[in-house]
Amino acid sequence: MSGAGTLARENPARTDEIVGVVAETPPEAVDVIVREADADQRKWAARALPDRLAVLARAAAAIEDATPGLATLLARESGKVAGDCRGELGFAVRYLRWVVEHAPEAYADRVLDDDLGRIVEQRKPYGVVAAVTPWNAPVILAMLKIAPALAAGNAIVVKPSPLAPLTVSRVVDLVGAPVRVVHGGAETGAALVGHELVRKVAFTGGAAGGRAVAALAGDRLTPSVLELGGNDPAVFLDDAPFTDDAMDRLVMASFATSGQVCMAAKRLYVPSSRLSEFVGAYLAAADRVLVTGDPLADGVTMGPVISGAAQRAALALRDSGTVHDLGLFDGDPASGYFVRPALVVEPDPGSPLVVAEQFAPVVPVLGYSDEESVLAAANAGELGLGASVWSADEERAFAFARRFEAGFTFVNTHNRTGMSLRAPFGGVKRSGWGREYAHEGLAEYVQTCVIHAPAAFRPGAAVTGGGPSAYPAG
Ligand code: NAD
Repeated sequence: MSGAGTLARENPARTDEIVGVVAETPPEAVDVIVREADADQRKWAARALPDRLAVLARAAAAIEDATPGLATLLARESGKVAGDCRGELGFAVRYLRWVVEHAPEAYADRVLDDDLGRIVEQRKPYGVVAAVTPWNAPVILAMLKIAPALAAGNAIVVKPSPLAPLTVSRVVDLVGAPVRVVHGGAETGAALVGHELVRKVAFTGGAAGGRAVAALAGDRLTPSVLELGGNDPAVFLDDAPFTDDAMDRLVMASFATSGQVCMAAKRLYVPSSRLSEFVGAYLAAADRVLVTGDPLADGVTMGPVISGAAQRAALALRDSGTVHDLGLFDGDPASGYFVRPALVVEPDPGSPLVVAEQFAPVVPVLGYSDEESVLAAANAGELGLGASVWSADEERAFAFARRFEAGFTFVNTHNRTGMSLRAPFGGVKRSGWGREYAHEGLAEYVQTCVIHAPAAFRPGAAVTGGGPSAYPAG
């Protein structure tokens, strides 16, 4: 439904409704925008840090004030339920305020001045940052790049996904600092990432886009942060209680945003001796917490998937094992890209549902015999984003957690209930590199530049040591 030069976004819950239209940014216009950003960056970086942070604090207040309308827009363009959209916007505001609070320490000069010499470490911005972001949490995933990049003195150009371009554009309008948006698909993204004036790339998305973006950035020798997909295991140890609370949390850890979350619980592993007990507890939890339907309707906890292609891919995953449809459906399933959520018990361990990221509301559960074999199964494969371990004994859980090949391990929860602004997030293996959140997330947007006067050569010092080319003492 897009005309020449425009992108029309449909509502995935009501596919006859166009939510909004944005103008596509052709590659030649990307060039102009990056050059404007480059000119702005120098003025922005010349402003004192407290001055830049005051702009960001005002942005947080403006986004907070606009949240009710923005959340409805986000629900309509993405199919995410309204409560989750309000939560995402609230988390973006909290993150922005966290950056305002912590940037002064993270970006301060570090000074050493003693009898070995004087060293000043500066935290300098890169220049123009290119951010390429996915549709599934478009506001927070853009804000994780926008806030630290601007605080550090960079300018930033964001290319959101064409599947959720509208709310991000409004949020950017409220920021009031050198952040710009370009719209389009892979071609626009490539024009941005490969631009000669882009000095840092921040990408969140899938493996194919990540590979293309990393190659373009590498070709320009532009450093990058890559936040890619995951196939998170959730391992229940043999002492894990299947309480209602834990099961409710687990169900939503897989089915929030219709299973389309990077760190969703995507493979469940349970001791074989407790598998039928687990399935009973899981189906009961799904009956309590899972209502699929229109994202704006009260009581609905899961909306449609993002597109017709995603719907077809989700349905194809139910091809082995015993399939249980979950929860209730409220509304007209034919009005949009709805998929009945499902638990698949003991599918073929080599099936795509187990070995690849499903990114869909279909989750497998597999029985295991002992901890070594489940650890090997959990760590198999190329992805290493998140993982979780569930146990009545926290020490035992942490000991097991240390052996996961994952960038972030949750204990007795999974997915966003286990996130923290204080904890760096990112993947190992082929789930990406670099980190977002916490001090590591701030550090991605500065380069350490050193000024050093060795003691021996400071004005007035008597030159000592082993000669004009000797190694220093410290
Ligand atoms: P996607 O890779 O299809 O798209 C992401 C962005 O990259 C979009 O803006 C898209 O237009 C752009 N893009 C795609 N190909 C490109 C190319 N060749 N050159 C330049 N830009 C290109 O991903 P998606 O479907 O929007 O999101 C789903 C994926 O993102 C899943 O794999 C999910 O796990 C992952 N994800 C990861 C995290 C994380 O923090 N690790 C968070 C959210 C989503």
